[in-house]
Amino acid sequence: MTRVAAPVRVGFLSLGCPKNLVDTEIMLGHLRRGGYALSQDPADSDVIVVNTCGFIESARQESIDTILEMAEHKKTGRCRRLVVAGCLVQRYHFQLRQEIPEIDSFVSLDDLERIVEAVKTDLHSSAADPGTDISGAARALYDHRQARVLATRAHLAYLKISEGCDHPCAFCAIPSMRGAMRSRSIESLHLESVDLAARGVKELILIAQDTTDYGRDLADRTDLTGLLRELETVAGIEWIRLHYAYPNRITPALLEAIAQSAKVCRYLDIPLQHADAAILKAMKRGGSRRIFRKMIEQVRQVLPDCTLRTTFIVGFPGESEASFQELCDFAEETRFDHLGAFTYSHEEGTSAYGLRDDVPPALKETRRARLMELQSGIALEKHRTLVGRTLPVRVDGLESDTRMLLTGRLASQAPDVDSRVLIVDGEAAAGQLAPVRIEQAHAYDLVGRIVPRSERAAS
Ligand code: SF4
Repeated sequence: MTRVAAPVRVGFLSLGCPKNLVDTEIMLGHLRRGGYALSQDPADSDVIVVNTCGFIESARQESIDTILEMAEHKKTGRCRRLVVAGCLVQRYHFQLRQEIPEIDSFVSLDDLERIVEAVKTDLHSSAADPGTDISGAARALYDHRQARVLATRAHLAYLKISEGCDHPCAFCAIPSMRGAMRSRSIESLHLESVDLAARGVKELILIAQDTTDYGRDLADRTDLTGLLRELETVAGIEWIRLHYAYPNRITPALLEAIAQSAKVCRYLDIPLQHADAAILKAMKRGGSRRIFRKMIEQVRQVLPDCTLRTTFIVGFPGESEASFQELCDFAEETRFDHLGAFTYSHEEGTSAYGLRDDVPPALKETRRARLMELQSGIALEKHRTLVGRTLPVRVDGLESDTRMLLTGRLASQAPDVDSRVLIVDGEAAAGQLAPVRIEQAHAYDLVGRIVPRSERAAS
């Protein structure tokens, strides 16, 4: 009797941002097509793949720690091969090869389908597997024909509408890894969205380095507004959410397109990075508190109920107490719904690296904490206005730590980065939109219960 060999089991760890997660999903798709079994447990995997992030020092350190931790499984577990992919490979391929000999193969951002070759357990060590030529910034762009296994909850998916970035932000090394901006065609995005909807996706989250730059390089001059209109036609998609908008590209036409849409969430994520004009100039982004205030007034005029999310960097070179205070005053007057603050990281390969990193680490951290404390008061006040209201909540499933309560999100809450709704009573399937009465407000979470059918009919 012929014995059928068990499929090779591949364990995958994906670090970094949703853009990297989409790359992971594509690699998983290629592996599944190639007949590999996907494993959740590195200790029970024949091959381990780490998809790394190389954005800032802390992300790089996390990537390296993860690679080293996974390399241990080659000594103690079933793992026979360690593969490393992602941004860190694009930028530090040579150093990784020199310093971590346990790595058997590399996959570049330009060659995701090579993952199938890279995981072959009958290959010899990295010396025999030089990988692809990994030099310079990436140029590739995936399309709807690539296989993709969703690693998110089944009812939502990230849709990467373009790759790379043409902005010159002084603190950012992303363009040196992910290359120049290139947009996917509207047809490809439509076809992928139709496929995702057929697989049960109800919420599409549009991502790119700058989503508002979409289409600038396309011959047919399609822009984000046109893309939103196109995606609106996809049956089964109920929410479309926009991340990473660039402040000076929030046009009246874009706001109008959101206002007219039944599916695009009234939600804008606009990373502003700072509010002090001199710091913004040094960051090579431009803008000022006054300009941003005007832009936000326009947003609120056209979309009065629009949720605003932003991120700021504190401790950029030259940030004085006065410029930090300008940022805090702006955050206080604007009252963002969601705000993330990060400390500046002095990165080789960026133009800010030529400046003196003159804000001490402890002060950076203090400023970050001050800004977050300010925001937590604002978020709590905003959340309190929702108590007593019954609102539609997209149920995400069981809470990941306790596995006891359901969690969900309002249209004003993006997955993973924003607050969420903890559902303490009632039943609903993941993906379903359920009416939830909000009963408690905290700075980061809301607590509520699903309104029973009997009460819904009566109200
Ligand atoms: S917009 Fe600026 S911060 Fe964002 S990826 Fe491009 S260069 Fe980096």
